[in-house]
Amino acid sequence: MKYIPMFRNLALCDTLFHEIGHHLDRTIGSPTHGSEATAEAWRARLLVAWFRKRYWYLAPFLRVGKKIEYRWKKMKSGDDNLSKNRSKRDGRPRNA
Ligand SMILES: [Zn+2]
Repeated sequence: MKYIPMFRNLALCDTLFHEIGHHLDRTIGSPTHGSEATAEAWRARLLVAWFRKRYWYLAPFLRVGKKIEYRWKKMKSGDDNLSKNRSKRDGRPRNA
């Protein structure tokens, strides 16, 4: 995976944005000061902004991937009401 630039950059930015998150917590601030959770919140925020700017063209694939992941988790947990209650013809819930 480290030979694919996107994953290599992602690994680097993950750590870098966490540390920048500590700095932003001290300078800009946040509702919960001085904790690792604050740095993690900043990391997630910075990572999303960076990813959107740098890899904007992957957004449609991520959306499809999230839908597949959602379906997969539903299927794995046995809570497959979504697909059971939908009719095959129009995709709407049966009793709606
Ligand atoms: Zn930290």
